[in-house]
Amino acid sequence: MDLVDGFGRVVRDLRISVTDRCNFRCTYCMPEEGMTWLDRSEILTFEEIERIAQLCVERFGVDSLRLTGGEPTVRAHLPRLIHKLGQLRLANGDKPDIALTTNGATLRNIASELREAGLDRINVSLDSLRADRFLAMTRRDELHNVLAGIQEAKHAGFHPVKVNAVIERGANDDEILDLANYGRDNNIEVRFIEFMPLDASNEWERKKVVTQDEIVSIISAVYPLTSVPARGAAPADRWSYNDGKGVIGVIPSVSHPFCGDCDRVRLTSDGQFRTCLFATDETDLRHLLRTGGTDDEIAEVIVNAVGAKWAGHQINQVNFIRPKRTMSQIGG
Ligand code: SAM
Ligand code: SF4
Repeated sequence: MDLVDGFGRVVRDLRISVTDRCNFRCTYCMPEEGMTWLDRSEILTFEEIERIAQLCVERFGVDSLRLTGGEPTVRAHLPRLIHKLGQLRLANGDKPDIALTTNGATLRNIASELREAGLDRINVSLDSLRADRFLAMTRRDELHNVLAGIQEAKHAGFHPVKVNAVIERGANDDEILDLANYGRDNNIEVRFIEFMPLDASNEWERKKVVTQDEIVSIISAVYPLTSVPARGAAPADRWSYNDGKGVIGVIPSVSHPFCGDCDRVRLTSDGQFRTCLFATDETDLRHLLRTGGTDDEIAEVIVNAVGAKWAGHQINQVNFIRPKRTMSQIGG
């Protein structure tokens, strides 16, 4: 049975946050100090995560699972979870696609282990190629490790490795072309992300958003681009370089919201089910999991939550309300 919302959109992608903690403090995500972490007892166990994922895959045909956080690689024994999720099968016998979004700090040591555990795809966040700026943006001196981690991911057989770069005006917008060149030279798809109002420090302002149109015009002025048609439900719009040197993506959540094609739902690390990154409400699956809820009961709650999914976020409306939780607490 498909999970269909009230606007006819079918859920195919479950984003699972495995932790709210992180070894970085990116300025557009977390403050340097003062985050309140969930208690260990509040975080779903691997068995609890598997149970929800199994329901979504086997019963509802969800064919894409993405692990995120916080920083997912700080969760102990992550490969064990990946291995378990890799055993799940859709009704037609296919394995769901399993992906990971990571800051890449430890990837040089764990890329092959993740691959062997059954991870299919990897996205690494990288907002600057300059060590001093990387330090300023992430508050960690880790650029060399992240770059090495990306290369190690390629060696481990991840193809394509994608790089996510949040572009913030005044912070790193002068590196758009450098990041594009990095992708071209290393056969990596760079995906530029518009800065979203989900930072814990509440410093987001519309004028700090570098829009998709600006990003594409900066790159295409040097390297002519052709739009790759039909995004489907994927969040990124894509362009290919006319000279054949790869593809870029832009995730234009603010300037060109793509809610009409959304096929995503989310599970926070403390077991709250969310139908949108920007949703202001959540459905408590952890309580059901821990009080003997049957699969049928959990499935019914998921169906009802998806049925109530809104048409889309309101970032561009005057009545936009920021969700109580921030990006790292929800799972980006
Ligand atoms: N820690 C991992 C990482 O950084 O890749 C995974 C979690 S992180 C919250 C997921 C993605 O959200 C990253 O690509 C990050 O750059 C992006 N992100 C975080 N805060 C953001 C914001 N305010 N606006 C846009 N993207 C943001
Ligand atoms: Fe950590 Fe990712 Fe947030 Fe950066 S964006 S602070 S790496 S969770």
